[in-house]
Amino acid sequence: MEQELHSLAAEAKAHLESLTDPGKLEDFRIRYLGRKGQFSTIMRQLGTVPSEDRPRVGQLANTMKAELEALFEEKRSALLSSAPSGKDLTRPDLTLPGRRPQTGRLHPVTRVMNEACAIFENLGFSVAEGPDVEHDYYNFEALNIPAHHPARDMHDTFYVSESILLRTHTSPMQARIMETQQPPLRVIAPGKVYRCDSDITHTPMFHQLEGFLVDKKVSFADLKGVLSVFTEKMFGKKLDLRFRPSFFPFTEPSAEVDIACVMCGGKGCRVCKKTGWLEILGSGMIDPEVFKMVGYDPDVYSGFAFGLGIERIAMLKYGIDDIRLFYENDLRFLSQF
Ligand SMILES: [Zn+2]
Repeated sequence: MEQELHSLAAEAKAHLESLTDPGKLEDFRIRYLGRKGQFSTIMRQLGTVPSEDRPRVGQLANTMKAELEALFEEKRSALLSSAPSGKDLTRPDLTLPGRRPQTGRLHPVTRVMNEACAIFENLGFSVAEGPDVEHDYYNFEALNIPAHHPARDMHDTFYVSESILLRTHTSPMQARIMETQQPPLRVIAPGKVYRCDSDITHTPMFHQLEGFLVDKKVSFADLKGVLSVFTEKMFGKKLDLRFRPSFFPFTEPSAEVDIACVMCGGKGCRVCKKTGWLEILGSGMIDPEVFKMVGYDPDVYSGFAFGLGIERIAMLKYGIDDIRLFYENDLRFLSQF
């Protein structure tokens, strides 16, 4: 038994020596010094020791236990005073606030899409959604892009079969709606579009928002008005717009629209490549050929259309320079929004 006491004392001391976590102190105390601890267990066997040795062994056990208790107290105050808060960490701190469960949030692309839709809905536009898998007819033909038209080359299309494809823009909704409804029309068509393209500013799937308005006597000034309200609401300040002549087969005249750089206010910076302008969308007056295709009289009706990239706007709004960040699902990135 003497032997047992010596080895237990040595073990306990070594264990105490290695303790660094104040939270483990209580475990140690229970294991060695508690009423059901290892010292007590050994001492309960004192009756089996021959009576002449009993007082000596009992004395030894008490000394060892007292010594260990002293060492334990010393260690305890050392660990607790070095703990950052100086509080007794072996007890729960009931004054601490509870831990909030983590909640999800909307993806930045979804947020910008929702915001854009809300701005146009406030301007009286209704929302229409169409299929991602589209007929060649609606994606190209009905928008004045016949087979072999060079504009098809700009689209890097994913074909499903010869006449079925993944839509390359949200413009097919123009044709689908005009085919079934009569003017006046004020519609936006948000959704996913697909192009065989991938780098820091392009992903094979991205989001567009198409908008068009058809009525009698619609002019380019109406287009400008709608787009200036949109950019002001989206970026939270009045921004200069610049219309650059461009070409789209389904609008005439066509214009690419730039806004004054949201980063530098037009002075020139890295984001706007020192030009002071950022391209945000394509637009124009709907081509009379498109009206003829759906049976509207181009002499009676006129209209405008525009298409904007949601990722592009989200990148400008939040100062993100790589579009792929949106699709890597890195929580450190996503939780910033
Ligand atoms: Zn700039």
